[in-house]
Order: sequence, then C-alpha cells, then structure tokens
Amino acid sequence: MDIEDTLLMIPGPVKVASRVLRAMSKPMISHRSADFGNIYEDCILLIKELFDTENDVVVLSGSGTCGMEAAVGGIIRKDEKIVTVTNGKFGERFTELGDRYGTAIPLAFPWGTSFDLDRVEAALEEGAKAVAMVHNETSVGMINPAKEVGELARKHDALFIVDGISSVGGNEFLTDGWNIDIAITGSQKCIAVPPGLAMVSVSKKAEEMLEDGKGGYYTDLKAHLKSARKSPCQTPYTPAVSLFYALQEALHMAAEDGFPERRKRMGRLAEGVRQAAAALEIELFPQPGQRSAYSNTVTAMKMPQGISDDQLRGGMRKRGVVVSGGQADLKGKIFRIGTMGVCTESDVLRTIQTLELVLEKEGVISSLGAGVEAASKSIDA
Ligand code: PLP
Repeated sequence: MDIEDTLLMIPGPVKVASRVLRAMSKPMISHRSADFGNIYEDCILLIKELFDTENDVVVLSGSGTCGMEAAVGGIIRKDEKIVTVTNGKFGERFTELGDRYGTAIPLAFPWGTSFDLDRVEAALEEGAKAVAMVHNETSVGMINPAKEVGELARKHDALFIVDGISSVGGNEFLTDGWNIDIAITGSQKCIAVPPGLAMVSVSKKAEEMLEDGKGGYYTDLKAHLKSARKSPCQTPYTPAVSLFYALQEALHMAAEDGFPERRKRMGRLAEGVRQAAAALEIELFPQPGQRSAYSNTVTAMKMPQGISDDQLRGGMRKRGVVVSGGQADLKGKIFRIGTMGVCTESDVLRTIQTLELVLEKEGVISSLGAGVEAASKSIDA
C-alpha cells in the first residue's frame, strides 16, 4: 500500500499535519541569524507552557534518548548514584544511562505494574543524587505516579528527572507542580513533528549541579542553556533548522486548539480504544492499580487467543493501518495503538474497523461492528 494511504497508529513517530510538513520545506536560514533566534525563542515560550514550567527550556537536535542522556550525563558523575524506578523498556534505559555515567540503583517493578512507593522511599533513604522515572511508559501503555515520586525526591533532596517523551502534551504533566528538575520530551510524539528534536527543561537547582566538560559533549545542557540565553537565541552547534520550523508550526497548531483541549481529545480517543477492546473481549495489558493510570497516548492490549502477532499486525498493515507490537519479552504477546498528536476520531474508528476485519478473517470474532460501535459511542459521549 502507498505510504500516503497508510495510517500510522504507532506510539510515535506519529502522523504529521500538512501544515507542519509545509513549514519544513521553507528555505534554509543561518542558525546564527535573528530569524532563527526568533523561531527558537517562540518555541521556548510555547514549550514552557506545554511543560507547565517557569524553568528554562532548551531544544536539542537529537531524538528523545538524546534528552535522557543529556539529563543523566549532565548530573551523574562516576562515583554518584541515581535511583531508577522502572516498569517498562524506557525506564530501563535510565538504568543503562545511570550505569554509563555513574551507578544506577534500579528499582525494577514488573512491566505494566505500578511502583511501590515505599520501596522508592527506602531506596532514596540510602542516599542518591537523583531519581529518574518515565511518566508515560510507552512500552506498556501506563502513566506512572510522578507527583508522588517528586514529593519523595524533594523530601530526600534528590534531583528529579522525568522522561515525559510520550506524555508531555498528551497527559497532564506538571513540571513545576511535581518538582521535576529535568523534564524531557521528543518531537515525534504528542506534539506531532517528525523525529529528531528533544525538548528539555532544567530547574535552577539542576543547573547548579551541571558541571562543565564532565558529561556528554554534544549533550552538555550547560552549553545549550548558555547559547539559548544569547541574543539572538541560539544552539551551541548547528541545529536541525527544518525541524525547528516544524516545531514552531506544530506548537502554534496545538496552542490554537488549546493544550488542555488537545490532552482531553487524546484521552477521549484512548478511552474509545479501551472501550473497543472491551467490546471485542481483548484484555488490556497494564495493571495500573491505585497509583497509576491508563495512558491517553498509547493503549497496550494482550494478543487475543487464536491469532499471532504476524497475522494481527501484518493483516492490519496489508489493509493500510500500522500499529505497534510488544517490545523485548512482550514481543508477540501484546500490541499497541497510539492516540497521540493530531490523531482523530476517524483514525481511531478506521483502526478498530481494520482490527475487527482481521480478527474476523482469522476466526477470533464471528461478527463485525461491536468494537467500532463501542469506540464511537465512547468518543462521542
Ligand atoms: N522514552 C519513552 C517513554 C519513549 O516512548 C521513547 C520512544 O518511544 C523513548 C524514551 C526514546 O525516544 P527516542 O526513540 O526518540 O530516542
């Protein structure tokens, strides 16, 4: 099927609006010019609103992991500890980064289950410079309790680093309200820009702990903050200028909709997917318990009995809809549908309809329509 006719319903990269694609095709400018400075400054103002923060913000030309590395590499030195609270693939990345730059104290909970906050507190009592977690764990479709971990971080005087890569702009995310010292998001998720930019907010307290020349070179947040404060506003090295055009346009689009309205829409779409799953007797994967919640931006479901990953996702792909599979041990066991960015009700309904067609063809369900009806009723309610 032609790529133009393919509906991308994975949890990032996501569909990009034509307005944003057009913005990317503007002629090149000097990255040291006032024109670029104005674009970067405009982006920073809107990103601060998106992050709900008064902290400074920088944009790195690199994917979300680049922002995670800037955070951990900037703060953690060889002999220092970072508690990494994990329940999925991306949390585990913080553990790997922690061990690369210092020592990670991993608190690994089973994938898709909630954090035990008593254990988080006990780990922090041992003494650590920072604690890191993922807010929206994309690999399992679950929101983790950032507010509560932020309170513990403050109580134990640890810096709080949060990966909001698939969350910021899609779920409620209160950088200042939750005491987050370094928050990170990526361009290809809720803000619906092509991949390649990481947005990072840095508190004064975190900035004081950044040391020159000790962490990564390209990812040195001190250098990025210094350049962003210049006039015109700049980046230390040549940025991905076309992606900045796209980011500016996408942020304006989101602001025109209203950031809270955008989040609510993603929430309604995800609820629609969950209602469709219930109607089709497909079990959701995560077990959020009381402390966590289902995600607005990605829904993870168990692979139904009687169908393989290849049949389900391959059958959907053949019909023009791309959804994600499980990662690591969850490969073949779950599948995931993204509802991020500029995803619409009709995108969700087409996805569920296609899922039903494939399930019926493989003999998993005997009639069509229940999923679409449930999703549509829920989204319109
Ligand atoms: N963290 C989360 C929660 C993610 O969803 C992703 C990507 O899916 C990443 C980190 C890694 O980001 P990137 O692939 O942009 O480096």
